[in-house]
Amino acid sequence: MITDEKKCVVHMIPYGRQEITQADIDAVVAVLKSDLITQGPVVSRFEKALSNYCEAEYAVAVNSATSALHLACRALDLKSGDYLWTSPITFVASANCGLYCGAAVDFVDIDPSTYNLSVTALEKKLKQANKEGCLPKVLVTVHFGGQPCEMEKIHVLSQQYGVCIIEDASHAIGGKYQGEHIGNCRYSDITVFSFHPVKIITTAEGGMAVTNHQSLAAKMDLLRSHGITRAPSLMSHVSDGPWYYQQVDLGFNYRMTELQAALGISQLSRLDQYVERRHQLAERYDQLLSELPVTVPWQHPDSYSGMHLYVVRLELNEISKTHRQVFEQLRGQGIGVNLHYIPVHTQPYYQRMGFRVGDFPEAERYYAEAISLPLFPLLTEKQQDRVVETLRGALLP
Ligand SMILES: *Cc1c(COP(=O)(O)O)cnc(C)c1O
Repeated sequence: MITDEKKCVVHMIPYGRQEITQADIDAVVAVLKSDLITQGPVVSRFEKALSNYCEAEYAVAVNSATSALHLACRALDLKSGDYLWTSPITFVASANCGLYCGAAVDFVDIDPSTYNLSVTALEKKLKQANKEGCLPKVLVTVHFGGQPCEMEKIHVLSQQYGVCIIEDASHAIGGKYQGEHIGNCRYSDITVFSFHPVKIITTAEGGMAVTNHQSLAAKMDLLRSHGITRAPSLMSHVSDGPWYYQQVDLGFNYRMTELQAALGISQLSRLDQYVERRHQLAERYDQLLSELPVTVPWQHPDSYSGMHLYVVRLELNEISKTHRQVFEQLRGQGIGVNLHYIPVHTQPYYQRMGFRVGDFPEAERYYAEAISLPLFPLLTEKQQDRVVETLRGALLP
């Protein structure tokens, strides 16, 4: 018997979900039947395939984007006494990676049209920090919803002030900036991708860091597996014998499995198709929502978004309900809307470090109005119509 609760779950249209094909299943099963199931040649193949795709020199696969961010910070030698800056409108992991390394975290407010960190705010904050002698060592730029940040301008600033750049491209795989795939690291030191199931392609859990610097790749490779090496060139003294390995740094177990990599390779073959479908659905939302009191996502004409999220902002002056009432009504009627994100600086953990509500007003204004609508390749037009009609019902009297 299906309980009411179950029924509700069955009919809820989620905001995002994976597609797993028979080819995906076959690829994973083939690995399961092989000798090696943790990091091995399939992981190397996945790394090669992704670095080829985005035209980066090196790739290091790990068990999540959170791990990749942590390793990226470590490879850039972020440590106690340093600063990491990022956007407040992101998943907490983009900021937490700085804290893992003992660094302090600060934020740059967002641009109200793209919801990415504002280059104007960044420039102003860098100028001030330079005067006060507290420039950040690392800036994590988050391509929110898949829309690339203004990387060329950010890169110029980073050169001027000596700041390293990590692109958090968890939303942006398959997207393009200036006609080139995100992940080529033309304007950054390292780019990080996530393969969580709601993201654009999935390995269940998983992440990847790509870079054009051999030394950064080698460091991340070492740290993903305990800081242990068998490479003679990395050992501090000669080998005792064939069994010998050396721990030369304090690393972690962040390895990806062969199962995950097999799934990733299989998913990667459909990446362009997925992003294209996401764009079709987003454009359809743009049309269907044009008469409603919402602001649809603005797309920079020079870039091609990975289109991970479709966020609308409610025009609260035009409607008689609150943001929360609209959100609850949608959820209540089976639309699995979400809110990306609660500004990181307002989280209790960050408040304890001294951040206050009011610190980043554009981010907070955005948070008071934003709702992510369902968007994923398997979303049907019929389901999408239901989302729009439910939203219309919630917004109009
Ligand atoms: C999902 C996400 C992460 C973390 O990814 P995991 O693979 O789940 O660790 C980091 N940053 C952003 C912006 C994300 O959306």
